[in-house]
Amino acid sequence: MRRPYIAANWKMMKNLAETEEFINSFIPLVAGISDVDILIAPPFTSLSIASHLLLPTNIKLGAQNMHYEENGAYTGEISADMLLFAGCSTVIIGHSERRQYFNETDEIVNKKIKTAKKKGLEVILCVGESLEERESGRTFGVLDKQLAGSLKDISMDGVTVAYEPIWAIGTGRTATPEIANETHGYIREWLNKNKGNAGSVRIQYGGSVKPENISELMAQSEIDGALVGGASLKPESFANIIKGAKK
Ligand code: PEP
Repeated sequence: MRRPYIAANWKMMKNLAETEEFINSFIPLVAGISDVDILIAPPFTSLSIASHLLLPTNIKLGAQNMHYEENGAYTGEISADMLLFAGCSTVIIGHSERRQYFNETDEIVNKKIKTAKKKGLEVILCVGESLEERESGRTFGVLDKQLAGSLKDISMDGVTVAYEPIWAIGTGRTATPEIANETHGYIREWLNKNKGNAGSVRIQYGGSVKPENISELMAQSEIDGALVGGASLKPESFANIIKGAKK
């Protein structure tokens, strides 16, 4: 049985004070929930305060990105060691916004995952197709390419896959649970074929997940959790997603 795993991606939202306010309200809302893994990925500037506040809980802390080099003259970048020292257990890699606005290729994503794993960070790898790719019947081909490139020479221990159809991110348009499940099934088949037994790998769905649709998504056999953007920004909303995520 795969444990449900719900992650918050705050993107470039919430300063230090807002992070503190969110976490102080959020912790009591999810106290006592022990059968769902919870992760919060705030901006880099909020990692330290979040780490401090989350320390007495079992809520995990994640970063939204990192550099693949271990250190050096890379102005503005953050290393895996820096994330570990800031209290992160996990890093999100290959989010479609990184791919789209910062030219992250599968090759770069692959290098980042290798460094993250070498340093002991868990990874959430994001993959997903655009609307045009889905409408022209290329979804599975796009996923093949992203998975093969991003996961080249990488074993799946410590890696979660987040399937995020780009057309569903921040648009209010969710993939139907059936479409999401079919695509998750395809990803699991790919993993089984190319990475050995992938039965224990968790595959999150991401794209306009909210308290109202989490239960029907989680009712699908291949959906093990969610990566949540907009609806993770309010403590009640994110807590209600977690409460609705039980299998
Ligand atoms: C995301 O940022 O990964 C995401 C899925 O965003 P939203 O939930 O807002 O669609």
